[in-house]
Amino acid sequence: MPVRATKRGAERTPLDRDCDVLICGASFAGLAVARQLAGSGRDVLIVDRYEVGEKQTSACAAPTEWLDRLGLRGAIQQTFSRLVVHTPKGTSTWPLPWSFSTFDYRTLCALLFEQTDATFDTAKVDGRSGFTVHTDRGDIRSPLIVDALGWRRVLGAGANVQPPEAFLSRGLEVHPDGSGEDLELWLDPSYVRAGYSWSFPADTELRVGVGSFEPRDHVKEPTLRLAQDVDVPAVRFQGNWIPHKLRKAVDDGIFFAGDSAGHCLPVTAEGIRTALYFGIAAGQEIRAVLDGAQSREQALMRYGAFSDSHAWKFLWLKRVQNLVSRVNPTPLMPVAIRAMSNERLLRWAFDHYLEIAPPPPANAARSARATASHELAPMRAL
Ligand SMILES: Cc1cc2nc3c(=O)[nH]c(=O)nc-3n(C[C@H](O)[C@H](O)[C@H](O)COP(=O)(O)OP(=O)(O)OC[C@H]3O[C@@H](n4cnc5c(N)ncnc54)[C@H](O)[C@@H]3O)c2cc1C
Repeated sequence: MPVRATKRGAERTPLDRDCDVLICGASFAGLAVARQLAGSGRDVLIVDRYEVGEKQTSACAAPTEWLDRLGLRGAIQQTFSRLVVHTPKGTSTWPLPWSFSTFDYRTLCALLFEQTDATFDTAKVDGRSGFTVHTDRGDIRSPLIVDALGWRRVLGAGANVQPPEAFLSRGLEVHPDGSGEDLELWLDPSYVRAGYSWSFPADTELRVGVGSFEPRDHVKEPTLRLAQDVDVPAVRFQGNWIPHKLRKAVDDGIFFAGDSAGHCLPVTAEGIRTALYFGIAAGQEIRAVLDGAQSREQALMRYGAFSDSHAWKFLWLKRVQNLVSRVNPTPLMPVAIRAMSNERLLRWAFDHYLEIAPPPPANAARSARATASHELAPMRAL
């Protein structure tokens, strides 16, 4: 039986308070915002319904350089410099111009949290009236509120996002004990018509799953089948909805970062790097408010514009996603796969892809505790 770390019973005291910044969600986006506020001398509160790092939200693979630059190397489990792609017609190996690493979620969140000086408390966020956030433990008031709560966008002005009507993909994976040498993908319509399947080794565990761009297509049966095909037991399930359309990053005075703002990339469903990237950007703008360098309204405007400036890149990836959904079951797919075996084309594609959310400067980890100002500089020049 897994031990639940979240406070229960008598430990669950009322939480009714004010704070300078309230960050709702203690995963990639929320913790990235908080690290930019370290050293501000202000009362920064993070709330999440689970303890920090308690409940893994992904297969946890990200570009190694991103993890390095944020001082998160200690969480890395395995590093891969090639991608093995299986199709019904055969297997190709793509050398990666930059490597990906799998990491331990709990360790990564702990390392990120160490870079903050925020207070953390467990509470389930239910909604918001103006600048008061309602939780199952009471109301929290703050002039600066961040929704980093994931795809549901709990603090949005309208109703929460609901599948299957919303622009959402869905993913499900199992985490059996096991080991492997390669990051493996299956572009195989026998598992999923519009989407892909994967097996990511992480030290003594494999993360084996299926993602569908079509929210109405079920992923449990193909996940079970893939697990059987790669000869691992289907145990320890982890799954969720994944946004594949950019949403407004500011709304009604609230900052949204990560999946709540639709920052997960279409086609690849890579959302960790972008949650960190936009979380840092939101944190920089909020930090400037705390330092007296700009007003809340200016921060909202600048962060909203920054997120919007990426819209065309997200749109292009969405077009590729639509194309993949169409070519997957046709003879065009092997042609596309063969084209990607061309090293120059592969490098061009991967470099452009990384540029959508490039890693922060090399000394970002050190600077985060002392001052965020050097990271602020490039963005504030917008
Ligand atoms: C099966 C699967 C595998 C994936 N694999 C990868 C991968 O390998 N690499 C990659 O880059 N992306 C991957 N993704 C996408 C990635 O997980 C997300 O894009 C990423 O987690 C977004 O980060 P976030 O911080 O915005 O939100 P999340 O990581 O979803 O965090 C949201 C936080 O808010 C908390 N929360 C939610 N609602 C409430 C509430 N009402 N009250 C209080 N707290 C609440 C949650 O507990 C959680 O801590 C995967 C997604 C799925 C579903």
